[in-house]
Amino acid sequence: MGQYLLRCVSDRSVQPAYSLSCPHDNSLLRADYQARQMEPKSLPGIWRFLDWLPVHGIIAEAEGAPVTYRSQGLAGELGLENLYISFNGYWPERGARMPTCSFKDLEAAPTMQMLLECGECPTLVVASAGNTARAFAHVSALTGQPLLLFVPEKALARMWTTVPPRTGKGPVTLIAVQGDYYDAIQIAENVQSLPGFGAEGGARNIARRDGMGTVMLDAALTLGRMPDHYFQAVGSGTGGISAWEAALRLKEDGRYGSLLPRLHLAQNIPNAPIYYAWTGKEPQAPCSDMFDDVLFNRKPPYAIPGGVKDALRETQGEVYGITDQEAVAAKKLFESSEEIDILNAPAVAVAALEQAAIAGSVHPKDIILLNITGGGVARIKEEHTLHRLMPQITVSHWEDAVQFLEGKK
Ligand SMILES: *Cc1c(COP(=O)(O)O)cnc(C)c1O
Repeated sequence: MGQYLLRCVSDRSVQPAYSLSCPHDNSLLRADYQARQMEPKSLPGIWRFLDWLPVHGIIAEAEGAPVTYRSQGLAGELGLENLYISFNGYWPERGARMPTCSFKDLEAAPTMQMLLECGECPTLVVASAGNTARAFAHVSALTGQPLLLFVPEKALARMWTTVPPRTGKGPVTLIAVQGDYYDAIQIAENVQSLPGFGAEGGARNIARRDGMGTVMLDAALTLGRMPDHYFQAVGSGTGGISAWEAALRLKEDGRYGSLLPRLHLAQNIPNAPIYYAWTGKEPQAPCSDMFDDVLFNRKPPYAIPGGVKDALRETQGEVYGITDQEAVAAKKLFESSEEIDILNAPAVAVAALEQAAIAGSVHPKDIILLNITGGGVARIKEEHTLHRLMPQITVSHWEDAVQFLEGKK
Protein backbone atom coordinates (compact mmCIF):
# COMPACT_ATOMS: atom_id res chain seq x y z
CA MET A 1 0.00 0.00 0.00
CA GLY A 2 1.04 3.57 -0.62
CA GLN A 3 3.12 4.53 2.41
CA TYR A 4 4.47 8.03 1.97
CA LEU A 5 5.52 11.32 3.46
CA LEU A 6 4.01 14.49 2.06
CA ARG A 7 6.78 16.97 1.26
CA CYS A 8 6.93 20.49 -0.14
CA VAL A 9 8.85 20.43 -3.41
CA SER A 10 10.57 23.72 -2.52
CA ASP A 11 12.26 22.82 0.78
CA ARG A 12 11.39 19.10 1.18
CA SER A 13 9.76 19.85 4.55
CA VAL A 14 7.25 17.20 5.66
CA GLN A 15 3.65 18.39 5.96
CA PRO A 16 0.56 16.84 7.58
CA ALA A 17 -1.31 14.20 5.57
CA TYR A 18 -4.02 15.57 3.24
CA SER A 19 -2.51 19.09 3.14
CA LEU A 20 -2.92 20.93 -0.14
CA SER A 21 -0.40 23.74 0.37
CA CYS A 22 2.95 24.54 1.92
CA PRO A 23 3.33 26.97 4.84
CA HIS A 24 6.30 28.98 3.53
CA ASP A 25 5.54 29.47 -0.16
CA ASN A 26 3.19 28.39 -2.97
CA SER A 27 5.08 25.17 -3.71
CA LEU A 28 3.28 22.00 -4.73
CA LEU A 29 3.36 19.09 -2.30
CA ARG A 30 4.63 15.77 -3.53
CA ALA A 31 4.31 12.24 -2.17
CA ASP A 32 7.63 10.73 -1.14
CA TYR A 33 6.81 7.03 -1.29
CA GLN A 34 8.52 4.44 0.86
CA ALA A 35 8.60 2.02 -2.10
CA ARG A 36 11.62 2.88 -4.25
CA GLN A 37 10.90 0.39 -7.02
CA MET A 38 7.80 -0.27 -9.06
CA GLU A 39 6.34 -3.62 -7.98
CA PRO A 40 2.98 -4.08 -9.73
CA LYS A 41 0.33 -5.87 -7.64
CA SER A 42 -2.31 -8.26 -8.92
CA LEU A 43 -5.09 -5.72 -8.43
CA PRO A 44 -7.57 -4.33 -10.97
CA GLY A 45 -6.88 -1.21 -13.05
CA ILE A 46 -4.51 1.45 -11.73
CA TRP A 47 -4.57 -0.15 -8.28
CA ARG A 48 -1.76 -2.41 -9.48
CA PHE A 49 0.42 0.65 -8.91
CA LEU A 50 -0.82 0.97 -5.32
CA ASP A 51 2.68 1.49 -3.90
CA TRP A 52 2.82 4.79 -5.75
CA LEU A 53 -0.71 5.98 -5.07
CA PRO A 54 -1.47 7.95 -1.87
CA VAL A 55 -4.10 5.47 -0.64
CA HIS A 56 -4.20 2.27 1.40
CA GLY A 57 -7.36 0.65 0.07
CA ILE A 58 -8.93 0.49 -3.38
CA ILE A 59 -12.29 0.99 -5.09
CA ALA A 60 -12.27 -2.33 -6.90
CA GLU A 61 -15.13 -1.42 -9.28
CA ALA A 62 -13.20 1.63 -10.50
CA GLU A 63 -11.00 -0.45 -12.75
CA GLY A 64 -10.26 1.90 -15.66
CA ALA A 65 -6.58 2.04 -16.56
CA PRO A 66 -4.35 3.31 -19.35
CA VAL A 67 -3.49 0.89 -22.14
CA THR A 68 -0.14 1.28 -23.91
CA TYR A 69 0.18 -0.16 -27.41
CA ARG A 70 2.50 0.20 -30.36
CA SER A 71 1.02 2.25 -33.17
CA GLN A 72 1.00 0.95 -36.73
CA GLY A 73 -1.36 3.30 -38.53
CA LEU A 74 -0.44 6.75 -37.24
CA ALA A 75 3.21 5.72 -36.90
CA GLY A 76 3.24 4.87 -40.61
CA GLU A 77 1.58 8.16 -41.56
CA LEU A 78 4.16 10.16 -39.59
CA GLY A 79 7.19 8.04 -40.47
CA LEU A 80 7.87 7.11 -36.85
CA GLU A 81 9.25 3.68 -36.04
CA ASN A 82 8.65 3.53 -32.30
CA LEU A 83 5.43 5.35 -31.62
CA TYR A 84 3.48 4.09 -28.61
CA ILE A 85 0.02 5.26 -27.73
CA SER A 86 -1.34 5.44 -24.20
CA PHE A 87 -5.05 5.11 -24.83
CA ASN A 88 -7.21 6.56 -22.07
CA GLY A 89 -10.77 5.90 -23.01
CA TYR A 90 -13.13 3.13 -24.02
CA TRP A 91 -11.83 0.60 -26.51
CA PRO A 92 -12.50 -2.93 -25.28
CA GLU A 93 -10.79 -4.52 -28.31
CA ARG A 94 -7.56 -3.08 -26.91
CA GLY A 95 -8.48 -3.73 -23.28
CA ALA A 96 -9.28 -0.05 -22.58
CA ARG A 97 -12.38 0.35 -20.42
CA MET A 98 -12.39 3.79 -18.92
CA PRO A 99 -15.97 4.34 -17.81
CA THR A 100 -16.20 8.03 -18.73
CA CYS A 101 -13.77 7.93 -21.66
CA SER A 102 -11.04 10.29 -20.47
CA PHE A 103 -7.96 10.19 -18.28
CA LYS A 104 -9.91 12.13 -15.64
CA ASP A 105 -11.01 8.61 -14.62
CA LEU A 106 -7.42 8.13 -13.43
CA GLU A 107 -7.72 11.14 -11.13
CA ALA A 108 -11.21 10.61 -9.77
CA ALA A 109 -10.80 7.09 -8.36
CA PRO A 110 -7.72 7.68 -6.15
CA THR A 111 -9.06 11.08 -5.03
CA MET A 112 -12.34 9.56 -3.88
CA GLN A 113 -10.50 6.68 -2.20
CA MET A 114 -8.25 9.15 -0.35
CA LEU A 115 -11.37 10.95 0.81
CA LEU A 116 -12.85 7.70 2.13
CA GLU A 117 -9.69 7.18 4.15
CA CYS A 118 -9.28 10.63 5.59
CA GLY A 119 -12.19 10.19 7.98
CA GLU A 120 -13.88 13.50 8.70
CA CYS A 121 -13.48 14.81 5.21
CA PRO A 122 -16.05 17.26 3.87
CA THR A 123 -18.18 17.01 0.73
CA LEU A 124 -15.93 17.40 -2.26
CA VAL A 125 -16.54 20.44 -4.45
CA VAL A 126 -15.41 20.08 -8.07
CA ALA A 127 -15.44 22.73 -10.79
CA SER A 128 -15.07 21.25 -14.23
CA ALA A 129 -15.31 21.87 -17.95
CA GLY A 130 -17.09 18.53 -18.07
CA ASN A 131 -14.69 15.59 -18.18
CA THR A 132 -13.57 15.86 -14.54
CA ALA A 133 -17.13 16.23 -13.24
CA ARG A 134 -18.22 13.20 -15.29
CA ALA A 135 -15.38 11.07 -13.93
CA PHE A 136 -16.08 12.05 -10.32
CA ALA A 137 -19.83 11.53 -10.79
CA HIS A 138 -19.14 8.00 -11.96
CA VAL A 139 -17.06 7.10 -8.89
CA SER A 140 -19.64 8.70 -6.64
CA ALA A 141 -22.29 6.50 -8.26
CA LEU A 142 -20.17 3.48 -7.31
CA THR A 143 -19.36 4.50 -3.74
CA GLY A 144 -22.31 6.71 -2.78
CA GLN A 145 -19.95 9.49 -1.62
CA PRO A 146 -21.50 12.95 -1.77
CA LEU A 147 -20.23 15.34 -4.41
CA LEU A 148 -20.94 18.93 -5.41
CA LEU A 149 -20.22 19.73 -9.08
CA PHE A 150 -20.05 23.11 -10.82
CA VAL A 151 -20.13 22.89 -14.59
CA PRO A 152 -20.53 25.67 -17.18
CA GLU A 153 -23.88 25.50 -18.96
CA LYS A 154 -22.14 24.93 -22.29
CA ALA A 155 -20.49 21.79 -20.96
CA LEU A 156 -23.68 20.15 -19.67
CA ALA A 157 -23.84 17.86 -22.70
CA ARG A 158 -20.68 16.21 -21.36
CA MET A 159 -22.45 15.27 -18.13
CA TRP A 160 -23.34 11.63 -18.66
CA THR A 161 -22.49 8.36 -17.01
CA THR A 162 -23.08 4.75 -18.00
CA VAL A 163 -24.59 4.02 -14.58
CA PRO A 164 -28.20 5.20 -14.24
CA PRO A 165 -28.52 8.17 -11.86
CA ARG A 166 -30.13 7.36 -8.52
CA THR A 167 -33.57 8.83 -8.26
CA GLY A 168 -34.44 11.19 -5.44
CA LYS A 169 -31.61 12.15 -3.11
CA GLY A 170 -28.59 10.86 -5.01
CA PRO A 171 -25.06 11.56 -3.86
CA VAL A 172 -24.34 14.06 -6.66
CA THR A 173 -25.48 17.67 -6.71
CA LEU A 174 -24.91 19.25 -10.11
CA ILE A 175 -25.05 23.04 -10.40
CA ALA A 176 -24.86 24.65 -13.83
CA VAL A 177 -22.98 27.94 -14.09
CA GLN A 178 -23.76 30.74 -16.54
CA GLY A 179 -20.32 31.54 -17.95
CA ASP A 180 -17.18 29.60 -18.70
CA TYR A 181 -14.95 27.18 -16.81
CA TYR A 182 -13.26 30.06 -15.02
CA ASP A 183 -16.60 31.32 -13.67
CA ALA A 184 -17.37 27.79 -12.47
CA ILE A 185 -14.00 27.70 -10.66
CA GLN A 186 -14.66 31.02 -8.97
CA ILE A 187 -18.08 29.99 -7.70
CA ALA A 188 -16.71 26.67 -6.47
CA GLU A 189 -13.92 28.50 -4.62
CA ASN A 190 -16.47 30.51 -2.68
CA VAL A 191 -18.63 27.51 -1.84
CA GLN A 192 -15.81 25.20 -0.78
CA SER A 193 -14.88 27.53 2.09
CA LEU A 194 -18.31 26.93 3.68
CA PRO A 195 -18.51 24.47 6.58
CA GLY A 196 -19.03 20.90 5.40
CA PHE A 197 -17.48 21.48 1.98
CA GLY A 198 -13.91 21.10 0.81
CA ALA A 199 -11.69 21.72 -2.21
CA GLU A 200 -10.32 18.81 -4.19
CA GLY A 201 -7.25 20.89 -4.94
CA GLY A 202 -6.77 20.41 -8.71
CA ALA A 203 -3.06 20.24 -9.48
CA ARG A 204 -2.36 20.50 -5.71
CA ASN A 205 -4.05 17.17 -5.09
CA ILE A 206 -1.42 14.39 -5.10
CA ALA A 207 -4.07 11.71 -5.68
CA ARG A 208 -5.01 13.39 -8.97
CA ARG A 209 -1.40 13.71 -10.08
CA ASP A 210 -0.28 10.23 -9.08
CA GLY A 211 -3.42 8.75 -10.64
CA MET A 212 -2.48 10.41 -13.94
CA GLY A 213 1.14 9.35 -13.42
CA THR A 214 0.06 5.75 -14.04
CA VAL A 215 0.13 6.62 -17.77
CA MET A 216 3.93 6.83 -17.56
CA LEU A 217 4.16 3.80 -15.24
CA ASP A 218 2.07 1.63 -17.56
CA ALA A 219 4.14 2.73 -20.55
CA ALA A 220 7.44 1.96 -18.78
CA LEU A 221 6.13 -1.44 -17.78
CA THR A 222 5.01 -2.20 -21.36
CA LEU A 223 8.19 -0.87 -22.98
CA GLY A 224 10.63 -2.10 -20.35
CA ARG A 225 12.00 1.47 -20.24
CA MET A 226 10.93 5.09 -20.18
CA PRO A 227 10.12 6.69 -23.54
CA ASP A 228 12.37 9.41 -24.98
CA HIS A 229 9.41 11.75 -25.53
CA TYR A 230 5.97 12.30 -23.99
CA PHE A 231 3.24 14.17 -25.92
CA GLN A 232 0.09 15.49 -24.26
CA ALA A 233 -2.52 18.20 -24.76
CA VAL A 234 -2.74 20.32 -21.61
CA GLY A 235 -4.99 22.88 -20.00
CA SER A 236 -3.66 23.18 -16.48
CA GLY A 237 -0.60 21.13 -17.36
CA THR A 238 -1.22 18.81 -14.40
CA GLY A 239 -0.84 15.76 -16.62
CA GLY A 240 2.59 17.02 -17.69
CA ILE A 241 3.67 17.47 -14.06
CA SER A 242 2.35 13.97 -13.31
CA ALA A 243 4.30 12.38 -16.17
CA TRP A 244 7.49 14.12 -14.99
CA GLU A 245 6.97 13.05 -11.37
CA ALA A 246 6.31 9.43 -12.39
CA ALA A 247 9.48 9.55 -14.52
CA LEU A 248 11.48 10.82 -11.51
CA ARG A 249 10.31 7.78 -9.52
CA LEU A 250 11.15 5.44 -12.40
CA LYS A 251 14.58 7.01 -12.71
CA GLU A 252 15.20 6.33 -9.03
CA ASP A 253 13.94 2.77 -9.51
CA GLY A 254 16.96 2.31 -11.76
CA ARG A 255 15.56 -0.32 -14.13
CA TYR A 256 13.78 1.94 -16.63
CA GLY A 257 16.52 4.29 -17.75
CA SER A 258 18.19 7.38 -16.35
CA LEU A 259 17.01 9.99 -18.84
CA LEU A 260 13.74 11.77 -18.15
CA PRO A 261 11.36 11.76 -21.13
CA ARG A 262 11.12 15.17 -22.80
CA LEU A 263 7.73 16.74 -22.23
CA HIS A 264 5.99 17.97 -25.38
CA LEU A 265 2.88 19.82 -24.20
CA ALA A 266 0.27 21.16 -26.60
CA GLN A 267 -2.36 23.85 -26.28
CA ASN A 268 -5.12 25.12 -28.57
CA ILE A 269 -4.32 28.74 -29.49
CA PRO A 270 -5.37 31.42 -28.73
CA ASN A 271 -6.52 29.94 -25.37
CA ALA A 272 -3.01 28.92 -24.47
CA PRO A 273 -1.45 30.63 -21.43
CA ILE A 274 1.18 27.92 -20.94
CA TYR A 275 2.24 28.21 -24.57
CA TYR A 276 2.63 32.00 -24.33
CA ALA A 277 4.40 31.85 -20.97
CA TRP A 278 6.92 29.23 -22.12
CA THR A 279 7.66 30.62 -25.58
CA GLY A 280 7.51 34.28 -24.60
CA LYS A 281 5.21 34.96 -27.57
CA GLU A 282 2.69 37.75 -27.35
CA PRO A 283 -0.59 36.34 -25.92
CA GLN A 284 -3.61 36.64 -28.20
CA ALA A 285 -7.03 37.49 -26.81
CA PRO A 286 -8.90 34.36 -25.69
CA CYS A 287 -11.70 33.10 -27.89
CA SER A 288 -14.97 31.65 -26.58
CA ASP A 289 -15.73 29.33 -29.46
CA MET A 290 -12.83 26.91 -29.78
CA PHE A 291 -12.34 23.46 -31.28
CA ASP A 292 -11.44 22.41 -27.76
CA ASP A 293 -12.71 24.15 -24.64
CA VAL A 294 -11.56 21.48 -22.16
CA LEU A 295 -8.01 22.73 -22.49
CA PHE A 296 -8.58 26.31 -21.41
CA ASN A 297 -7.39 27.02 -17.89
CA ARG A 298 -6.70 30.68 -17.22
CA LYS A 299 -4.57 30.09 -14.14
CA PRO A 300 -2.39 27.04 -14.72
CA PRO A 301 0.07 26.02 -11.95
CA TYR A 302 2.94 27.33 -14.06
CA ALA A 303 5.61 29.25 -12.16
CA ILE A 304 5.30 27.60 -8.75
CA PRO A 305 7.86 25.19 -7.27
CA GLY A 306 7.17 21.76 -8.75
CA GLY A 307 4.85 23.25 -11.38
CA VAL A 308 4.66 23.15 -15.18
CA LYS A 309 7.65 25.44 -15.76
CA ASP A 310 9.92 23.28 -13.59
CA ALA A 311 8.67 20.16 -15.36
CA LEU A 312 9.46 21.67 -18.77
CA ARG A 313 12.84 23.00 -17.70
CA GLU A 314 14.00 19.76 -16.12
CA THR A 315 12.96 17.63 -19.09
CA GLN A 316 14.10 20.03 -21.86
CA GLY A 317 10.47 20.28 -22.77
CA GLU A 318 8.62 22.11 -25.51
CA VAL A 319 5.18 23.67 -25.80
CA TYR A 320 3.18 23.78 -29.04
CA GLY A 321 0.44 26.21 -30.04
CA ILE A 322 -2.06 24.39 -32.24
CA THR A 323 -4.74 26.11 -34.32
CA ASP A 324 -8.29 24.84 -34.68
CA GLN A 325 -7.65 23.82 -38.30
CA GLU A 326 -4.52 21.86 -37.40
CA ALA A 327 -6.38 20.04 -34.63
CA VAL A 328 -9.34 19.19 -36.89
CA ALA A 329 -7.00 17.69 -39.50
CA ALA A 330 -5.03 15.78 -36.85
CA LYS A 331 -8.23 14.31 -35.44
CA LYS A 332 -9.19 12.98 -38.87
CA LEU A 333 -5.71 11.57 -39.40
CA PHE A 334 -5.74 9.79 -36.04
CA GLU A 335 -9.25 8.38 -36.36
CA SER A 336 -8.69 7.03 -39.86
CA SER A 337 -5.25 5.58 -39.15
CA GLU A 338 -5.93 4.08 -35.68
CA GLU A 339 -9.64 3.28 -36.22
CA ILE A 340 -11.03 4.66 -32.98
CA ASP A 341 -12.78 7.97 -32.23
CA ILE A 342 -11.02 10.44 -29.95
CA LEU A 343 -12.02 13.60 -28.07
CA ASN A 344 -11.00 16.99 -29.41
CA ALA A 345 -8.34 17.63 -26.75
CA PRO A 346 -6.04 14.72 -27.70
CA ALA A 347 -6.25 15.78 -31.36
CA VAL A 348 -4.27 18.84 -30.26
CA ALA A 349 -1.51 16.49 -29.04
CA VAL A 350 -1.60 14.55 -32.32
CA ALA A 351 -1.09 17.82 -34.22
CA ALA A 352 1.89 18.65 -31.99
CA LEU A 353 3.45 15.26 -32.70
CA GLU A 354 2.98 15.84 -36.42
CA GLN A 355 4.75 19.22 -36.15
CA ALA A 356 7.58 17.76 -34.08
CA ALA A 357 8.11 14.96 -36.62
CA ILE A 358 8.24 17.46 -39.49
CA ALA A 359 10.53 19.86 -37.61
CA GLY A 360 12.88 17.05 -36.64
CA SER A 361 12.55 17.66 -32.90
CA VAL A 362 11.78 13.95 -32.66
CA HIS A 363 13.87 11.45 -34.61
CA PRO A 364 12.07 8.66 -36.57
CA LYS A 365 13.69 6.01 -34.35
CA ASP A 366 13.01 7.74 -31.01
CA ILE A 367 10.72 6.03 -28.55
CA ILE A 368 7.67 8.23 -28.33
CA LEU A 369 4.67 8.06 -26.01
CA LEU A 370 1.56 9.84 -27.22
CA ASN A 371 -1.06 10.28 -24.51
CA ILE A 372 -4.51 10.05 -26.06
CA THR A 373 -6.25 11.62 -23.08
CA GLY A 374 -9.78 10.71 -24.11
CA GLY A 375 -11.62 8.67 -26.69
CA GLY A 376 -14.09 5.98 -27.52
CA VAL A 377 -17.27 7.91 -26.76
CA ALA A 378 -18.77 6.71 -30.07
CA ARG A 379 -17.52 3.21 -29.24
CA ILE A 380 -19.04 3.15 -25.73
CA LYS A 381 -22.40 4.23 -27.15
CA GLU A 382 -22.54 1.00 -29.15
CA GLU A 383 -22.68 -0.98 -25.91
CA HIS A 384 -24.02 1.33 -23.22
CA THR A 385 -26.85 3.74 -22.72
CA LEU A 386 -25.49 7.10 -21.66
CA HIS A 387 -27.58 8.65 -18.89
CA ARG A 388 -27.66 12.42 -18.78
CA LEU A 389 -27.02 14.12 -15.44
CA MET A 390 -29.35 17.06 -15.04
CA PRO A 391 -28.46 20.21 -13.09
CA GLN A 392 -30.58 20.92 -10.02
CA ILE A 393 -30.21 24.65 -10.56
CA THR A 394 -28.45 27.17 -12.81
CA VAL A 395 -26.63 30.07 -11.13
CA SER A 396 -24.63 33.11 -12.16
CA HIS A 397 -23.44 34.23 -8.70
CA TRP A 398 -22.02 32.21 -5.85
CA GLU A 399 -24.61 33.68 -3.46
CA ASP A 400 -27.33 31.90 -5.46
CA ALA A 401 -25.46 28.61 -5.09
CA VAL A 402 -25.13 29.09 -1.33
CA GLN A 403 -28.82 29.95 -1.00
CA PHE A 404 -29.74 26.81 -2.92
CA LEU A 405 -27.47 24.62 -0.76
CA GLU A 406 -28.87 26.15 2.45
CA GLY A 407 -32.37 25.36 1.20
CA LYS A 408 -31.44 21.71 0.54
CA LYS A 409 -30.34 21.05 4.14
C1 LIG B 1 -8.28 17.54 -18.61
C2 LIG B 1 -7.94 17.03 -19.95
C3 LIG B 1 -6.71 17.31 -20.55
C4 LIG B 1 -5.67 18.23 -19.96
O1 LIG B 1 -5.29 17.87 -18.70
P1 LIG B 1 -4.21 18.61 -17.83
O2 LIG B 1 -4.79 18.61 -16.46
O3 LIG B 1 -3.97 19.97 -18.34
O4 LIG B 1 -2.99 17.77 -17.91
C5 LIG B 1 -6.44 16.75 -21.78
N1 LIG B 1 -7.34 15.97 -22.39
C6 LIG B 1 -8.53 15.66 -21.86
C7 LIG B 1 -9.47 14.79 -22.59
C8 LIG B 1 -8.88 16.18 -20.61
O5 LIG B 1 -10.08 15.88 -20.09
